[in-house]
Amino acid sequence: MAFNGGGPKPESEASIEANRVGNVLNPCPQHPSNEISFLDKSRKMGVCSECVAMSSSNSSELIPLTQTISEVQEVLLNLEANMLDLLRERTGQLSENKNKIQVIEGDKISFLTDQ
Ligand SMILES: [Zn+2]
Repeated sequence: MAFNGGGPKPESEASIEANRVGNVLNPCPQHPSNEISFLDKSRKMGVCSECVAMSSSNSSELIPLTQTISEVQEVLLNLEANMLDLLRERTGQLSENKNKIQVIEGDKISFLTDQ
């Protein structure tokens, strides 16, 4: 008797995706049917384009979400580059220490064989 392991994938994943279509992922608190598309720096909250139209906030205080995302990505890339530098440096130190240990081991062996 064969196990039923190779069958088609369960539908749950697909239906979750389908349910998401038409729903707003990041709804505006004031307008739940609108997606948040700006960050209001002065009020420290996300707002939708309808809020922006009604808002008395200075437009320089409103940052498009796409710009924010690219700024965050830039920061993360810098962080990643710094981490890679650190990793490279540490790996260099590690192999240097391994060489020193080898030299010490070699000295120990020649010392012991001299006795
Ligand atoms: Zn809104």
